[in-house]
Amino acid sequence: MFMNYIGSILRNYCMRCNKFYDAEYIFNSKEIPKCECGGIIKPDVVLYEEGLDENIIRNSIKAIESADLMIVAGTSLTVYPASGLLNYFKGSNLVLINKSITPYDNRASLVINDSLGKVFAQI
Ligand SMILES: [Zn+2]
Repeated sequence: MFMNYIGSILRNYCMRCNKFYDAEYIFNSKEIPKCECGGIIKPDVVLYEEGLDENIIRNSIKAIESADLMIVAGTSLTVYPASGLLNYFKGSNLVLINKSITPYDNRASLVINDSLGKVFAQI
């Protein structure tokens, strides 16, 4: 099951050695993405629809507020918290990847109506 993912995925970095990784690497990881040094790669914002605690939401809001690019994939943005969090985004580039249209399509710089797997396979 591919879970909803909200992320500013330009800035994935290793928590140990600070090496940067691109989005493709993160999406191709089946488990927690790991660096070649063994450290955990931490995306700027990763949200799963299940198991969100208050801390994660607070940190996500902070990250979203300071992000310039936000990619929202695999969610129709009609359910909390995905829909609510999007309102905190003040950056210039919003990218939406979803099979169907979303209420936020008119705010996005780029809308891709396709499945997440297909889109990222082509990057
Ligand atoms: Zn590392």
